[in-house]
Amino acid sequence: MTEPSEEAPNPFPKVTVVGAGTMGAGIAQVCAQAGCEVVLNDVGEEALERGMNGIAAFLDKGVQRGKVQPSDRDAALARLTTSTDLAAAAATADLVIEAVPEHLDLKRKIFAAVAGAAREDAVLATNTSSLSLAAIFDGIAAPRRCLGMHFFNPVPIMALLEIVQPEAADPQIVATVRDFAGRLGKEPIVVKDSPGFATSRLGVCLGLEAIRMVEAGVASAEDIDKAMELGYRHPMGPLRLTDLVGLDVRLAIADYLAKELQSPVFEPPALMRAMVAEGKLGKKSGQGFYDWSES
Ligand code: NAD
Repeated sequence: MTEPSEEAPNPFPKVTVVGAGTMGAGIAQVCAQAGCEVVLNDVGEEALERGMNGIAAFLDKGVQRGKVQPSDRDAALARLTTSTDLAAAAATADLVIEAVPEHLDLKRKIFAAVAGAAREDAVLATNTSSLSLAAIFDGIAAPRRCLGMHFFNPVPIMALLEIVQPEAADPQIVATVRDFAGRLGKEPIVVKDSPGFATSRLGVCLGLEAIRMVEAGVASAEDIDKAMELGYRHPMGPLRLTDLVGLDVRLAIADYLAKELQSPVFEPPALMRAMVAEGKLGKKSGQGFYDWSES
């Protein structure tokens, strides 16, 4: 794990997180636990309350399991505030991390507003899992401070931070964010702004090939997963993971990658399209490559 040196000051004492959903709440939590003053922004009080309740519950569970000290939980919660006013939330930030739904127009709108309100030296980061950063940040003033901070779900548990570096990004700022990852307890990787970055591109590729193998009758879903779990030490096989992510979500990413990378490797198999059409979306629908109806 990358450790910040003892004396290194926190480069981002004030962080604003835009979007208080699954990812935004987790990102706000790890930043607050790392000692940052965090403003969590969303469109409504209800979403903010849900996000804050989720953070408090997560920290409480940590205390119950003896992994978080009660005083650290209290200190982290005290560093968190909420706001529905994006301009006000962005104005004081050293770092703004956006985690709103995966729609290009929405993210562009958010960053136009953020850039208009934030200091010119505030670093602007998106948590997009697939969109082109060049498109998200197109037209933003001082693009040198714009990059991707791709966290994984659940944020407080997953160790990886995929830093996505657009061509215009300042390498010095990327290096600062890399150090900051250590402060958050994350292991950073740096990847160019290219379709699927490193994680989705490789993960989806493996998942699609596994589906093609089921389609061709090479082996059962269980045995294909076991091949990767026991033979390659993957913590979870590619088909079970596809079920957890959602076949519809993965289908959309595969279509996008096939188009952007012009590669047949990412063409979604017919079986995948058929399962999505039948509503077999994986865990969330109760049925995918596995039966989840009991879970
Ligand atoms: P989510 O739907 O759980 O949360 C999104 C939040 O954004 C909601 O609370 C919503 O109210 C809020 N929001 C919508 N419009 C807004 C606006 N104009 N201003 C402020 N807030 C607004 O979504 P999520 O799963 O947290 O995903 C967020 C981003 O993270 C997406 O880009 C997604 O691709 C990416 N991502 C998700 C995962 C995952 O596993 N869920 C993993 C990695 C990256």
